[in-house]
Amino acid sequence: MFPVEVFRSEASAANLLEQVRWREGLQCPRCQSESVIKYGSYREYQRYRCKNCGRTFNDKTGTIFAHAKIGLDKLLFAFYSLLRFNTSIRQLDAEIDVSYRSLHRRVERFARTLDAPQLDLVGPVEIDEFYVSAGKKGRERDHNE
Ligand SMILES: [Zn+2]
Repeated sequence: MFPVEVFRSEASAANLLEQVRWREGLQCPRCQSESVIKYGSYREYQRYRCKNCGRTFNDKTGTIFAHAKIGLDKLLFAFYSLLRFNTSIRQLDAEIDVSYRSLHRRVERFARTLDAPQLDLVGPVEIDEFYVSAGKKGRERDHNE
């Protein structure tokens, strides 16, 4: 069963992202220090501050969801429908009121994070793996810049 409640609101989606992303402990995306404290919030997302390098970040920083104009709940729903039901971006544009261009850009990034050409997002395990790999790719990219 897919945890459909994550689509209900951006807060629900944010909560899942927070749980999955940091399940092995909080870590600074910049310097990898684990000396991190909670530091207010950024909209629905928990914000943090690294005590080592002083950088602030939130649950989305360094993932493919960072700086998205589309809410995380809608993005997850879009990825899910694309993979599971072979929906088109045009359909999603009309049905959940997201911008075609923004969604297209995120879908391209999403596709690049997937090592397998096809992925079935059928349950929490796959969603976990997806988050973790998206997060790792983000950190690698951050590192190389
Ligand atoms: Zn740091």
